[in-house]
Amino acid sequence: MGAISSYCIITYSEVRFSMTNTQYALLLLRRGLRQRCPVCGRGKIFKGWIKTYERCPACNFAFEREPGYYTGAIAVNLVVSEFLIAVIAVPLAASQSVSLTVLIVLGCTLPFLFPLLFYRPTKSLWMSFDHFIHPVSSERV
Ligand SMILES: [Zn+2]
Repeated sequence: MGAISSYCIITYSEVRFSMTNTQYALLLLRRGLRQRCPVCGRGKIFKGWIKTYERCPACNFAFEREPGYYTGAIAVNLVVSEFLIAVIAVPLAASQSVSLTVLIVLGCTLPFLFPLLFYRPTKSLWMSFDHFIHPVSSERV
């Protein structure tokens, strides 16, 4: 614990306890969309395109709160990706206006493309959602 952690505890307490639940949910949503730390909102979650920091570079909060923490994010990513594939592919296949080759190309690329596109947003939004449901206590920061 250093000066940075103390600052985060003060920021967390000031932010969380001066807002309504709706305001706090919107704050966490903004932080999730910006892919920032749900505790301080300053530190980036990703250090590359895929790789995640173990701890927030700004406040030192441990991002992976327990083993298997990101399983929910993976599940959300899978559901969103499969839903969009169904929304795109099923009407195209049913209309019979698109060639079989195009359908095969879409069917082979979209199941890989969408999970990669949604990887970062679902992971950061999952962290924000989890943070709203299971807020961090001052002792854990
Ligand atoms: Zn942080």
